[in-house]
Amino acid sequence: MTTILYTHDDCDGHVTPQGHPERVERLGAIRAALADYDALDRREAPLGNPSDVLRCHPEDYLDRVRDAVPDEGWVSLDADTQLSPGSLTAAWRGVGGCVAAVDAVVAGDAASAFVACRPPGHHAERATAMGFCLFGNIAIAAKHALDHHGLSRVAVVDFDVHHGNGTQDLLWDEARALFVSSHQMPLYPGTGSPHERGAHDNVMNLPLAPMTGGAEMRRLYRDEVIPALDDFAPELVLISAGFDAHRDDPLANLNWTEDDFAWVTGAICDVADAHARGRVVSTLEGGYDLHALGNSAAAHVTVLMERGG
Ligand SMILES: [Zn+2]
Repeated sequence: MTTILYTHDDCDGHVTPQGHPERVERLGAIRAALADYDALDRREAPLGNPSDVLRCHPEDYLDRVRDAVPDEGWVSLDADTQLSPGSLTAAWRGVGGCVAAVDAVVAGDAASAFVACRPPGHHAERATAMGFCLFGNIAIAAKHALDHHGLSRVAVVDFDVHHGNGTQDLLWDEARALFVSSHQMPLYPGTGSPHERGAHDNVMNLPLAPMTGGAEMRRLYRDEVIPALDDFAPELVLISAGFDAHRDDPLANLNWTEDDFAWVTGAICDVADAHARGRVVSTLEGGYDLHALGNSAAAHVTVLMERGG
C-alpha cells in the first residue's frame, strides 16, 4: 500500500493577477519538494464531473461560474477570487482529483492520497465563490464517499490557518460528516467560532490566537480534536491541508513549523488507523510562502507515505 499523488498541469492554467498570493508557482514549489519521492504513486488528476459538483453546489451556481470564465485576462468573482481562461479546467482537476482519491483509497489501491491541485476549495460556499476558491473539493469528496460508496461516517479535518467556512456550509446539515477546523481568529473569513456547531452537532471549530505555536496546537489536538474524532469513529478521514499556519506565511500569524505539520498529520493518521483502516485523503488548500509550502507539504506527504507503507 502506498500514497498516491494526484496533480495535473492544467492547474497551472489558473492564472491569478500579478501579486496575488494564490499563484501558479505554488504547485511548482510542491512538485520540486516531492521530486525525489520515488515511492509516490503519481497519477494525473482526472477532470471532475458536474454530478460531483452538484452534490454540494446548485446548478445555477455552476452555470454562473461557467459563464463567467473570460476568453482573456481576468474576471473577479469577489475581491480575492479571479477567473482566468484556464481556471474552470483547473478547478475540474481539483474536483476530479479528490473524487478519484476517494475512489482509490476506498477501493484499497492505496492507503492514502494527496491531491495537489489549485485553486483551493475550502472557502467556497453553496452558491458563493470566495477566498480564492470555486468548488468545495473536500466537501464534494465527503459527499462522494457517503453517497456513492455508502460510507456511514466521514471526518474532515481542516488545519489551514483560515476557517473552512465553505466546507462548514456544505456539510452543515450532513449528520454523516464531522467537520473539524482549527484556524487563527481573528482572521479572514471571520467565521469559525466554537458556537457554530452544525445542524447535528457535527461541526467543531477551534480558534487559535495569533502567534499560537506548535506546542499549543498539539495540546489542542491531543485534548480536543483527537478525542472528538475517536468518538465519531470515521470510516474515512479527509484533510483540508493548508500550510499557511507556518510561521513564515505572509497571510497569517501562527507559528507552526514543518515538524508541526508532520505531527498533526501523524495524529490524524492515528485516528484513521484506529477507525478507518488507515484511509486518508488529503487535499491542498492554502500556503503562500513558497519555501515553507514546499517543505511543509513534503513533511505532510512523508508522514502519509510512512503510515501507509
Ligand atoms: Zn488558508
